[in-house]
Amino acid sequence: MVAAADPVQPFGRRGLCPALSAPMQTGDGFLSRVAFEADISPRAMVTLCGLAERHGNGLIDITARGSLQFRGLTPQSACALEKDVLALDLPLREGLAVETSPLVGRDDAEIADGRFIAEEIRKGADALALHDKLAAKTSVVIDGGGHLSMGDLLADIRLKAIRLEGRTFWQLLVGGPESKALNAGLVEPVAAAGVVLSLLVFLAEKGSLARGRDLDQQTVKAVCGERLLDRVSEGKAQTPFSPLGMMKTEEGRFAVGIAPAFGQVRGADLAHLCKRADTLGIKALRPSPNHSLLFFGSSSACEALLKTAGASGFVATAGDARSSIAVCPGAPGCASAFLLTHELAAFAAEECATLLDGSFTLHISGCGKGCAHPAPSFLTLSGTSDGLAFSISGRAGDPPVGILPFEQQKAALSRLARLYEKEHKPGENAADLLARLGREEIGAALRQDNQ
Ligand code: SF4
Repeated sequence: MVAAADPVQPFGRRGLCPALSAPMQTGDGFLSRVAFEADISPRAMVTLCGLAERHGNGLIDITARGSLQFRGLTPQSACALEKDVLALDLPLREGLAVETSPLVGRDDAEIADGRFIAEEIRKGADALALHDKLAAKTSVVIDGGGHLSMGDLLADIRLKAIRLEGRTFWQLLVGGPESKALNAGLVEPVAAAGVVLSLLVFLAEKGSLARGRDLDQQTVKAVCGERLLDRVSEGKAQTPFSPLGMMKTEEGRFAVGIAPAFGQVRGADLAHLCKRADTLGIKALRPSPNHSLLFFGSSSACEALLKTAGASGFVATAGDARSSIAVCPGAPGCASAFLLTHELAAFAAEECATLLDGSFTLHISGCGKGCAHPAPSFLTLSGTSDGLAFSISGRAGDPPVGILPFEQQKAALSRLARLYEKEHKPGENAADLLARLGREEIGAALRQDNQ
C-alpha cells in the first residue's frame, strides 16, 4: 500500500500505461517503463542494467513495441530509478507515442523517411497538449516501409508509405494492427502530419476513451476533408522480416538484431552483451519492436557480437524456435496470471522445436488479456481459473476450443509434437500442416482424445 504522501503514484491518471514517472503495480512489485526516440550507446545500456539490478529485481523486459521495463521495484526504488535515469540525459520518449522503424533514415529498402512527419506530429501534439486528453495508450505509427515491418504493432492512426505511379503517398489506416485496420485512403506527403493531427484532435475532443478503432470511413473523411485523396490503394502486404541476425543498413553499415529469450533478460546478462558490443567498437543500439535490440556497427563487429549473443543464450537467428513463441511475463511477474508462461514456453521451444519453424506464432498467455499478441494466432494457450485454455486461429480471450487441466499442459505439447512428426510431409511447413489437419484433429491431440 502506498502512503498518501508518497511521491509514487502507482495508478495515476495515465496509470494504464506504466511509465518512468507513473510506475504500475504488478505481481513482482512495481514496474517502470522507458522508451527511446533515438539510439543510445552500449555504455548507457550497461548503466541502465546496473540500475535494474540496484533498484529492482534485476529483470528487464523488452516489450513488443521496443520499450524497456524495469521490474521488481518498490515505491521508493521506483523514485530513485526515475532520478537516476533522468540524470543520464538519454533520448527518452515523452508525450504521445509516435513510432517509426528503428531503421528509419538508414534503411536502403525504405520507401520514405518518416522522421520529419513524426517530428511534426510530436510537436503539434505537444503544442495542443493532446497527450493529456487522449486515451492513455494512444499511438501513432509512421511506417516508411523497409526491412522491418511495423504491421503487427497496434496503432490508433497509421501512415504507411507506398509508391504509386512513380510517386510516394502515405496510406492512412486507423485502428488495430495493419491487417485489421480501416484503410481510409491516401494522403500527399505534405498533408500527412496535418491529417494525423486533425484526427488526434477529433479523438481528444471525444474524450479519453476514444480510440482510432472507433473511427469509420465517413468520420475520417469529414475530419480530413480534401486532404484525403479520392483514390485508394490496397498497398502491398509487407513480407515479414525478422529483426534477428545480420542486416545491411546504409552503405557499408550493418545492424545486428538480438533478442532475449521470451522478451526478458537479467540486467547482468544484458550488461555483459553490451560491454562486449562496446569492446567491439559498436557505438549505438536501439531497443526495437518484437522484443529485440538492434546494434549498429561494422560487419565484423556485428558478426562477432552475434556469436557472443548466441553463446550467451540470446536469440540470435530467425530459425530459433523461441522466436516463434509470443509469451507475456505471466506468473509470478503479473498478478493476473494463472500460468508460469516462461516455464511452459521454454518447454515448448525444446519439445516442439521442429514444429516451431517460424511459419506461425505459438501464443502463450498468462490470462485472457493476451498482452503478448493482441492479434489472432494459429495456436493460443492461455491460463484461466479452470485450466489451460487453447484456441485455434483466435485470441487469448476468445471462447476456447477446449480447456486442459494444468497438469496436462506439457503432455499436451508433447502430443502435438508427435502429431507433427507423424503427419508432416517433406517440404510442408508447420502452418500448412496445422491448417491441413484442422482444429478437430489438433484439438483431439491436445486433449488426448485419440490415445
Ligand atoms: S496477458 Fe494477462 S498474465 Fe500476461 S501480462 Fe497480460 S495481464 Fe498479465
